[in-house]
Amino acid sequence: MKYVSTRGTGELGRFSDVLLLGLAPDGGLAMPEHIPAFSPQTLEALRGLSYPELAFRVMRPFIDDIPEADLRRVLHATYHPDVFHSQDITPLTRLGAASPGQGELYLLELSNGPSLAFKDVAMQFLGQIFEYVLERRGEQLNILGATSGDTGSAAEYAMLGKARVNVFMLSPRGRMSAFQQAQMYSLNEPNIFNIAVEGVFDDCQDLVKAVNADADFKARFDIGAVNSINWARVLAQAVYYFKAYFALGLPPGAEADFSVPSGNFGNVFAGFLAKRMGLPVGQLIVATNENDVLNEFFSTGVYHVRPADRVAMTSSPSMDIGKASNFERYLYLIAGSSATHTLSWWDEVGQGRPVDLRGTSHWDEVKASGLLSGRNTHQGRLETIRRIDQQCGRLIDPHTADGVLIGERHQRRGVPMVCLETALPAKFGDTVQEAVKRAPERPERFAGIETAERYFDVLPNDVETLKAYIARKLRETVKVQEPA
Ligand SMILES: *Cc1c(COP(=O)(O)O)cnc(C)c1O
Repeated sequence: MKYVSTRGTGELGRFSDVLLLGLAPDGGLAMPEHIPAFSPQTLEALRGLSYPELAFRVMRPFIDDIPEADLRRVLHATYHPDVFHSQDITPLTRLGAASPGQGELYLLELSNGPSLAFKDVAMQFLGQIFEYVLERRGEQLNILGATSGDTGSAAEYAMLGKARVNVFMLSPRGRMSAFQQAQMYSLNEPNIFNIAVEGVFDDCQDLVKAVNADADFKARFDIGAVNSINWARVLAQAVYYFKAYFALGLPPGAEADFSVPSGNFGNVFAGFLAKRMGLPVGQLIVATNENDVLNEFFSTGVYHVRPADRVAMTSSPSMDIGKASNFERYLYLIAGSSATHTLSWWDEVGQGRPVDLRGTSHWDEVKASGLLSGRNTHQGRLETIRRIDQQCGRLIDPHTADGVLIGERHQRRGVPMVCLETALPAKFGDTVQEAVKRAPERPERFAGIETAERYFDVLPNDVETLKAYIARKLRETVKVQEPA
């Protein structure tokens, strides 16, 4: 399988190349040249497979530059019950019917991995496949990232003990939840560097951009990223849509709907990919919080990104975005894989202007694509957490609550609605406490984590200081031996 950029015609190589690439040289995102689809018969052959075996069958068509046995081995190591604390890896739980006469509501549990958020599902794969590809190439990678919480901890837990990968993770000093801080800063590992920046999340992101803009530094120190535009993350997430679909036990061809708490559009795009691969997905619901650029697009046909200073801080903070990076992949497919259209749209975006599809054939394509949306607020989150707790005896986190409420609004008679659980309530204890007046339970391995020793360095919001820090740490770190 060859990969191309959403904005150009040049080839980007094969899977292992785009794995390490980040953005394409023209600023676009990597996409497979075409999307192979299962026929109804080949789809049926996937029913009942174990998670790693299903992952192999779903991902293999997109990863043909790695020997079959090696890819299988990587997937079996990644999707192991010891890592995800469940034999099913992503178990499906029935919540019941939200209101009489409506279809059944389900929760797809994606958050039982090491950092208690769905990002683990893809990031754990990234950790394993990075190690494999870097080993084969005799290379090493220094990941530089910025986090407001979930991405950073998922990345750090995924790269633990990986000899060829170091992680430099910037976070805004004192601005993450107590649990998130403890989760990251309690790691005392030779290849993990937590950097608390004197600033806000946007400052951290700007620092990452500034380091990446220095091409010499970037090449000299093998700087890379694990952000949500990485194709391998999107691909790995498509697998659990298949897993959930088969767990529903529907007759062949019957549709299921999915509701997805959305920020950067990575998770819901993976669902769209699954649909394009032939999975009978009916509606895909894009659930947003008060930062509703995506809801605005799906309800009006106008996509207008917001500058960072117009992004509100909400109680589902991992969805606080003003632009959705993976959205470019969706519009590229909507335009029939046209880089020309994508390029002209993102020209507009780059100049702060809206992409307006009203009255065009592309808008008809959007409406035919099955994606719908809705927006939730703080009050709606609290009420949903409380109601699902009372009616179903199940505590959910604020992001999942956005998905559940918007999912219920779009429910169709007789069609199951699967709501993706994107984090465990323990991660966002304050909001859950506000909703149900009690603290959420947390997995035993995180008991008392707030009192654990913390390992992090504080740096000023200054790019030269950051570069000097990275250079110094890498000199101190024992370098990987080149293969003879
Ligand atoms: C990252 C995240 C999201 C948003 O997912 P996208 O793929 O960026 O749309 C939603 N909920 C939680 C808990 C997250 O960590």
